[in-house]
Amino acid sequence: MPRPPNVGRGRRRVPTSDASGKQETTMSVRNALIVGGGFTGLTTAIALAQRGVEVTLVDKAPAWARVGHGLTIQGNALRVFKEIGVIDDVLAVGQAENAVTLYFADGRVMAEMPTPRTGGDDLPATIGALRPDLHEILVKKAEDLGVEIRLGLELTSFENNGDTATSVLSDGTTESWDVIVVAEGIKSQTRPKLGITEDRAPSGLGIWRAVTSRLPEMTGGIAYPFEDDGGAYKVGYTPVSDTQCYIFVLCRPQRPDNGLEGWQEAKRLMENFHGPFDYLRDSIDENTFLNFQEIEWIFVEGPWHHGRVVALGEAVHAVPPLIAQGAAQCVEDALLFAEHVTQDGDLEAQLAEFYARRLPRIKGVVDASLLLAKWEQNPGSPDADPGRVMGGALMALVPAA
Ligand SMILES: Cc1cc2nc3c(=O)[nH]c(=O)nc-3n(C[C@H](O)[C@H](O)[C@H](O)COP(=O)(O)OP(=O)(O)OC[C@H]3O[C@@H](n4cnc5c(N)ncnc54)[C@H](O)[C@@H]3O)c2cc1C
Repeated sequence: MPRPPNVGRGRRRVPTSDASGKQETTMSVRNALIVGGGFTGLTTAIALAQRGVEVTLVDKAPAWARVGHGLTIQGNALRVFKEIGVIDDVLAVGQAENAVTLYFADGRVMAEMPTPRTGGDDLPATIGALRPDLHEILVKKAEDLGVEIRLGLELTSFENNGDTATSVLSDGTTESWDVIVVAEGIKSQTRPKLGITEDRAPSGLGIWRAVTSRLPEMTGGIAYPFEDDGGAYKVGYTPVSDTQCYIFVLCRPQRPDNGLEGWQEAKRLMENFHGPFDYLRDSIDENTFLNFQEIEWIFVEGPWHHGRVVALGEAVHAVPPLIAQGAAQCVEDALLFAEHVTQDGDLEAQLAEFYARRLPRIKGVVDASLLLAKWEQNPGSPDADPGRVMGGALMALVPAA
């Protein structure tokens, strides 16, 4: 049942006293509204709830999606999943890989490239998994921790009132919180209301993604064309189960006006790629789950907050998925944010420390991803060295021994 308007759920911050009667400081966030239930919002909700914060999460989706694409989840995201206690479930739904095979378009192997273990040596370098499987694990964990999840709701407006922020949701509910986290993704509507002027921008790339079958012996691979023939910039696949993989075809951002259905266009773009790609191309038909999208990016170099309303994840940093760090950077935001704002002290100071840790790390990923995106579009670039840039960006994320 919807709450009546002007009924506040969030508890106000109440300083406690020690035995001598002297006032102690309290953690700056004891209740929170999270807007958006993707990787960022759910991981933030879980990490806050685990630290004693009372959390409500809203998402505009009327129901959680049960189908979706595959993802490559890097070790540093797995490290966060370990910290929040879901790693066993995550590894159970994923296919672990520690290297990727690079192919020439004709199917010959170019190289076997080990993937840096960005989560440390006790975790796989990457897993491939289906997004809905990972999402379900996070939703269940949040629910088990008592996070209240309300679907079909958006944040209509907010107001800062010193040590709290008031939210107005699309059902008219008005509530007061210690913090509101905006985890709305790259198309965030709230971002400009935080005084952030940066907006999402085209990357010059488009991508087809499909979930299809694979042969048991097929491990992850990426193939490069011999020349820019107007087709795909590259094609790759990642196993997501014993029998399935997801395929991506990186290409120009506009679909040609050739009258082909989506599945036919994806096959056309793959027609010059051989070896394992012959099997994958043949496995695509009119029943394949696939879609095309233009890839956009954004990077807000901070600050990401206005008063007690803070944006995290792809609402403030999203990159072309060329080193598969998108979700990893989102969940790193979530955990570090929760660790900082549940300490005793002042939120502004905690956020300043948070930005000092997060911004340089994200900038490394953004700069590498944008450079790789430029080289994808200009394959003949004399200075192009994608292996070095990709490896360097990932090695920079590996924890110090
Ligand atoms: C083509 C492509 C391939 C990718 N591949 C990879 C990969 O292999 N590996 C990887 O790590 N990353 C990958 N990424 C990036 C990854 O998907 C994102 O980094 C991650 O999903 C972002 O999570 P998020 O929670 O910040 O945003 P989102 O996943 O966009 O979630 C935002 C949530 O907020 C909700 N919402 C939005 N607006 C509102 C509102 N106003 N009110 C309430 N709710 C709202 C939405 O319904 C949604 O549930 C890829 C991205 C793309 C585009």
